[in-house]
Amino acid sequence: MTEATTIATAGEILVEFVSHKKNCGLSEISPYSGPYPSGAPAIFLDQAARMGAHTELFGGVGNDGFGRSVLARLKRDGVGTKGVTVSDQGSTGVAFVTYYDNGQRDFIFHLANTPADSFAVEPHHLDLAHTWLHVSAASLGNARLRDAIMGLAARVETAGGKITCDPNARPELMRDASASRALADVVARSHILMPSTNDLEFMFPGIPEEESLERLSHTKVETLVLKRGAAGATIIQGTERRDLEPHPVDELDPTGAGDCFCGTFVALVAAGMDAFEAGRLANAAGAIAVTRRGPMEGNSDPDEIAAFLEQHGGQRTP
Ligand code: ATP
Ligand code: MG
Repeated sequence: MTEATTIATAGEILVEFVSHKKNCGLSEISPYSGPYPSGAPAIFLDQAARMGAHTELFGGVGNDGFGRSVLARLKRDGVGTKGVTVSDQGSTGVAFVTYYDNGQRDFIFHLANTPADSFAVEPHHLDLAHTWLHVSAASLGNARLRDAIMGLAARVETAGGKITCDPNARPELMRDASASRALADVVARSHILMPSTNDLEFMFPGIPEEESLERLSHTKVETLVLKRGAAGATIIQGTERRDLEPHPVDELDPTGAGDCFCGTFVALVAAGMDAFEAGRLANAAGAIAVTRRGPMEGNSDPDEIAAFLEQHGGQRTP
């Protein structure tokens, strides 16, 4: 069954511009670089494809330079793009990001009413029973994306496929109550759930971490991953738990590390790897990701991850 698994996502495909100056709040003139290929679902799937997974992406770009650049990257990395619409009706979605010294960041997204949220999902080329649909739940803040994703999730679930979820709770993208309801719905249906510590605080405000994890363990989740940024990660499966130490690296641009971690993890588990070993490799992929500017630039392939682990060491799973 694992051989035939397709990992699919539906959601925003963007290009991103990254400010080189910190603390400017996106309100001062400062140097930026880009267009970097971006959009959390696209970063996730690009990494899954680089790990060797069979993938299909549903989304849209404009018929312009930004769209061509992100699409060329996805194709180069082996992402299935049959479900990507190239539209003459609008320009490719764009995001801007800047950082603060304390590690916080500000985003501005231009994706509503662009091809990034205006595409039809036609899953006829998916074998739904053998599809793992990954939901990057920040997309659920956009009503059109929410409808597209929830529709596809229902079809995958009915057909016997699986749902994996990164709550990716960006307050900028999740302002209304329907978004939070959809997030709770996807969380309840997920087989693999991969929140960051920030996501846990968003989902369970004021509740201690252990209690939040305990609550999530009562859903249908089979594997729970907690992404801890510069503090590493925790993998929980049934009664077994493994805390993964972070790799010491110089963090240049943390955006996308979570998607890269999740793409690595889901691709390896879908290929039949033990979750703790997959976590060990994903923890390395996440560390590699933060050392490069640009959200998708930090994605890596199995050889690169192996070389990194060779150099940095990494707890082997017994
Ligand atoms: P995003 O939503 O921006 O993509 P996230 O908040 O979902 O990110 P993080 O917890 O920031 O995800 O990062 C994912 C994983 O990458 C971490 O669990 C860890 O394994 C690795 N990682 C992230 N930052 C660092 C760091 N500074 N040093 C070492 N490893 C890191
Ligand atoms: Mg995240």
